[in-house]
Amino acid sequence: MSIYPLKYEIIFDQQKDIIKKIAPNVFLSWQQKKGASYIIKIHSGAVLIDSTGDSAAKIVIEALKQINLRPKDVKLIFNTHYHFEQIAGNDAFPDARIYAQQKEIPFISGEKKGKQKPSFGNFIFAPYTKKSINDLLDNTKLTFEDFCLYIIHTPGHTEGSASYLYNDILFTGDLIEYKENKVFLSSFWDSHSALDSIKRLQVLDFEYLCLGDGHVLREGRNIIKYLSSHPHGHKV
Ligand SMILES: [Zn+2]
Repeated sequence: MSIYPLKYEIIFDQQKDIIKKIAPNVFLSWQQKKGASYIIKIHSGAVLIDSTGDSAAKIVIEALKQINLRPKDVKLIFNTHYHFEQIAGNDAFPDARIYAQQKEIPFISGEKKGKQKPSFGNFIFAPYTKKSINDLLDNTKLTFEDFCLYIIHTPGHTEGSASYLYNDILFTGDLIEYKENKVFLSSFWDSHSALDSIKRLQVLDFEYLCLGDGHVLREGRNIIKYLSSHPHGHKV
């Protein structure tokens, strides 16, 4: 029996640290039952990858404060997919432009009701994003001042899930899930699509893999390579 070596996980002290440093300008803010948001500090403020399941985004705002930033300093938010724990905090940042893959937009804006993960029982009352949401094309680079993000459509967990590459850090949302010290591919929407998506990610060069639930793993490329031939990682 071999399970992927999760010794590469970066261990944070969740009780002590409101903000966890992944790279000199990349941070994680995480709160139990509220989910995760990744903060990238840029020249004029910050960019977020997802905004947690808290409509007030309290933990993110607290984390921003620790790096001397305010909610209005958030310029861009990229949602990996429409689920409640990714998008609820979108409207807590008044000056932020919101981005997502086109298929997710009606779910994020509340126009359509999407299937949610059962662990988040309060999704029935989930706040939706009132601001307009901008579409992201596949296999493109988005630049903003000194910031550059590479966008890859990675359906599987949901139909319009996207992954984002920033320097040597890849954010995959819930395409890859983590449970009981094991990583595996999500089949929440479609397992074949998830497998195709993971194969697409194999060509990228990166070190850190940041999952939608706040788990951060080193040797990200090896994990992607492993999952592309062992999608049910935990069953190996
Ligand atoms: Zn999800």
